[in-house]
Amino acid sequence: MIQLSVPLNFIGFVYREIRQGLTDIEAMFDLLGVRQEVTDRPGAPDLVVHEGAIRFEDVRFGYDPDRQILKGVSFEVPAGKSVAIVGPSGAGKSTISRLLFRFYDIQGGRITIDGQDIAAVTQESVRKVIGIVPQDTVLFNDTIAYNIAYGRPGASEDEVRRAAELAQIAGFIEKLPDGFRTMVGERGLKLSGGEKQRVAIARTILKAPPILVLDEATSALDTHTEQGIQAALDLVSKNRTTLTIAHRLSTIVGADEIIVLKAGEIVERGGHEALLRQGGLYAEMWRMQRAATEAEEALRRAREED
Ligand code: ADP
Ligand code: MG
Repeated sequence: MIQLSVPLNFIGFVYREIRQGLTDIEAMFDLLGVRQEVTDRPGAPDLVVHEGAIRFEDVRFGYDPDRQILKGVSFEVPAGKSVAIVGPSGAGKSTISRLLFRFYDIQGGRITIDGQDIAAVTQESVRKVIGIVPQDTVLFNDTIAYNIAYGRPGASEDEVRRAAELAQIAGFIEKLPDGFRTMVGERGLKLSGGEKQRVAIARTILKAPPILVLDEATSALDTHTEQGIQAALDLVSKNRTTLTIAHRLSTIVGADEIIVLKAGEIVERGGHEALLRQGGLYAEMWRMQRAATEAEEALRRAREED
């Protein structure tokens, strides 16, 4: 989704935008990865968030008019609760998170936050209240401290360090030659997928948004590392409206509701146990993932014994 080979004049444009006080990483995503298709209505007010309840009401959407991706999707994430979306690749899970950010306007239905239609308020005010830990984190050619503090410009060194600790990346950073002042990104130190994700988690911990979107947030990590990070994610999402797009089902067992999406439609919904009893797609996915995890564990044990 992120195009790295952007023309120079576009980079200049992005840079000016940043200088003009663009305060959010999501906006950067918008500029780099997603076409600017959405404009604010004249005189649109800002979104006013009291508790951060999300509602999708019969949402219909396609990137192209002749191919519908979401075919009437309805669900609710009550304030402070957590809902997980699972389903096969291509089902439309990430599309749901992009629509919540209003990267695109929808073709039917309504998306509301605390009862306000997100299409009727300013985009900036919508993006401000949502924190995302994306699949691919974009790092700036700047220090690792800057990259973390980007979640909340003006954060103190102590706050940055604390966020890094919670995201379990402080130890790694402190071992670097320049610690938190180490340059990262294209022209600096290259971080692995898992390390970048931890930076994104630290950023989100600092931003402390009322709404949290985790899009396969721990997919770049192996099962073992993931368990450590999951604790950090659980901490950030506590008492916060959380929409998790899950890759590993083991991480969403405790979700208040699990939604199973297939080809743009909700085919099953409910709690983990109820879905297992139902013996449908979720139960099937669970069985397959358990088998895969057991195989992975067995392989690791065999290697350790060698
Ligand atoms: P998931 O996250 O469930 O794997 P996505 O929401 O990313 O699925 O994608 C759903 C469908 O929409 C896929 O068929 C994908 O090819 C298509 N799609 C995703 N992004 C775009 C885009 N920017 N333009 C056109 N089609 C897209
Ligand atoms: Mg996806």
